[in-house]
Amino acid sequence: MERYEFQFLLGRELLRLVLDNRLDEIKSLPKKFESNKEQARKMILAYLGALSFDERIEDAIEKIDERPVFPLILSSEERVETLPPCPTGALYRDREGRVKIMQRGCISCGRCTRDGFASYSRTGLVKSLKLLKSRKKVTALLAPSIDGQFNVGNSKLERTLKQIGFDKVYNVKYGAQMMAQNEGKELEDCIKCSTWMITSCCASIKELSLKLFGVIEDKHSTARTPVEYTSEYIKTEDPDNVVIFIGPCLAKIAECHRNKNVDGVLLFSELEMLFSVYGVDFSGDYYIKEDELASLSRRDGISNAVKGFCSLPAKSISISGISRNTMKQFSSWTRGEKPDADLVEIVCCPNGCVSGPGNTLRVRRNC
Ligand code: SF4
Ligand code: SF4
Repeated sequence: MERYEFQFLLGRELLRLVLDNRLDEIKSLPKKFESNKEQARKMILAYLGALSFDERIEDAIEKIDERPVFPLILSSEERVETLPPCPTGALYRDREGRVKIMQRGCISCGRCTRDGFASYSRTGLVKSLKLLKSRKKVTALLAPSIDGQFNVGNSKLERTLKQIGFDKVYNVKYGAQMMAQNEGKELEDCIKCSTWMITSCCASIKELSLKLFGVIEDKHSTARTPVEYTSEYIKTEDPDNVVIFIGPCLAKIAECHRNKNVDGVLLFSELEMLFSVYGVDFSGDYYIKEDELASLSRRDGISNAVKGFCSLPAKSISISGISRNTMKQFSSWTRGEKPDADLVEIVCCPNGCVSGPGNTLRVRRNC
C-alpha cells in the first residue's frame, strides 16, 4: 500500500473511533494494518500526543487530555542508511545508525515526516474532533492554501464544512490584509532609514529566527500573523466561538498553540479524512486535475501585498525553501551583510505551503 494512502486509511479509522466515542478500541487498530503494524502503532501514538514511541497506547489514551497539542517531532529510533532531508541539519545518525533529532535545531517544518518515516509529530486531530462534537459554536478558520486542496469551489467547501458541524467559516486572508497594511508602513520606515525587513507568514521561519538566528528575528516586521488578526476578530465578535484553524503544516500547530484565540488545529490531510468519514466525495475526478494544481498559488505573494501599502518604491526578493545555501545567506545577514532588497519574503517549504507536510493526498501526490 502506498505510504500516503496508508496514512489516510489509518487516520480515517482512528477518526471513526473518536467520533463514535470508542477511543479504547484504538489499541486494536494496528491489527487491521497487518503489513504496517509497527508504523500504525507509531502513527496512533502521534495522534494521541504520546511523549515517545515507546509509550503504551493505553497510557497515551489515559493522558490524552493532559497533553498539550504541540508538534513535538519524535525520533523513530529506526536504523537508516540515509537521513531524511532536514533544512536545519537537526537530524543526525547515532553510532548505531538510528535517526536522532536535536530538538534545539528543529523548526517543526515537518519535512522529515513528509519524506521519510524517520520521525513523526503530534497533531490537534483528537482535540479538534472533541471540540467539534462539543455542541459549542465552532468556527473553521481556513489557511489561504486551502485553495486547490479539494476538488471543489469555495462556496461548496463552506457548505460542506457547515454540514459536518462547523457553524461559521472564515479565511485567514482577512488577517493577511491587515498584516500587509501594517507591514507596508513599517517598510516605508525601513526604506527611509536605509535598512531592510523580513516578511513571512511561515511559522517555521519564525521558529528558525527565534532558535537559530537572533539577528534575523530582529529584522522580522513587528506585525502580527494573519492567523492572529483573524482569530482575534472572530473572538471579539463572539467570545463564545470555538476557533479551529485548518492549515497545511505542523509549524502552524506550534503557532496556534501560542495563540489564545485558537482552540484547535486540523491539518488539511485530517480534514480530508474527516470528509471521507462523513461520506463527502466532491467528484469522481478527484485526483486528476493536475492543471489546477499547477495554478495553485505557490507563494503567498505577501511581499507584493506589503509593497501595495508602501508609498515608496521598494525592491523585494522571495526565498521559498530552506537549503544549506539559504542558511549560509541567513548567516551572512547575522554578520551585518544586507540583502539586495528592502523586503525579503521567506517561506520554509519549496514553492510555499503547496509543499506543506499536512496537505491532502491530492496535493501531496502532485507536488
Ligand atoms: S521537522 Fe523539519 S527541522 Fe525538524 S527535524 Fe524534521 S526536517 Fe528537521
Ligand atoms: S511554507 Fe507553509 S506549509 Fe511550509 S512550513 Fe511554512 S507555513 Fe508551513
